[in-house]
Amino acid sequence: MKQLLIKIKKYSELVCESCGGHDFREQEDYLECENCHSIYKKNSLQKRTIYRQSVIRWSGLVGVFLLMSLLGFFFIFYSTKGTQASKVSYSDVGPGKPYKTVKEKEASDRLSAEIEADAKWGLEHLDLTGVWTTYYFNSIQVTTAQFSDKANSPTTYTNGMLFSELVKKVGKPKSEEDYGNGRNQADFFYHGTDKKGGKWTIAVFIVYDVKSGMITGKDVMG
Ligand SMILES: [Zn+2]
Repeated sequence: MKQLLIKIKKYSELVCESCGGHDFREQEDYLECENCHSIYKKNSLQKRTIYRQSVIRWSGLVGVFLLMSLLGFFFIFYSTKGTQASKVSYSDVGPGKPYKTVKEKEASDRLSAEIEADAKWGLEHLDLTGVWTTYYFNSIQVTTAQFSDKANSPTTYTNGMLFSELVKKVGKPKSEEDYGNGRNQADFFYHGTDKKGGKWTIAVFIVYDVKSGMITGKDVMG
C-alpha cells in the first residue's frame, strides 16, 4: 500500500525585515534579530503566517509503485503549490529565510535548546573565571533604547551601565568586533580545568553603544 504524505505546517512568526530571520531575542524594550542583529521597536514587527513543507515520505514496497508514487508526488506537489499560492507568503519571507522545511526548523529549535543549556551552565559557573561572578553578571544593567517615531534604529540609549566601568572591574576584552547600529561586541574568554580534570571554557559577550558607552546587551556561554 503506497502512501504519499506531504506535510504542510503552518507557523505564525516574526520575520526580520533585513535578513528574513525568524529568531529574535527579546530585550527589555526592543527585539533583536539573532541573525543580523537588527533591532526593532517592540510591536513594530507583525507576525506573518508561514507555510513550510516537510520532507516527502512514502511507505510500502519498492518497484513499479515507486514510479507511480513519484508521479503522484509531482501531481500533488504541483496542485498543492497551486492552491497555496493564493494564501501563502513564501515570497514574503524572502530568499534569506533560514528554514525551508519543518526538519530544518526542528534542527534549529534543538540547537537553540542546546545553546540555552550552555548559557545556563556558563552563568552558573562564572565564578570559575576568577574575574566574573554570577552575581556581577546579573547586576550589569543594560540600556533602555529610545526610538524616534519612525525609525526602527534607536536614536539614543539611557540607563545602561558604562562599558568603561565594566572594564575597570573585569579587565580588557580579548577582542572587539563591530556589531552593527553603532555598537561593538567585546569578547571575553576563559579556560581552565576543574577538580576532576575536565576542561571548561566560558565566554562572555558584552555589546555596547560606542557613542554613549552604554552596555546594550550581555551574554554568557559555557
Ligand atoms: Zn535579521
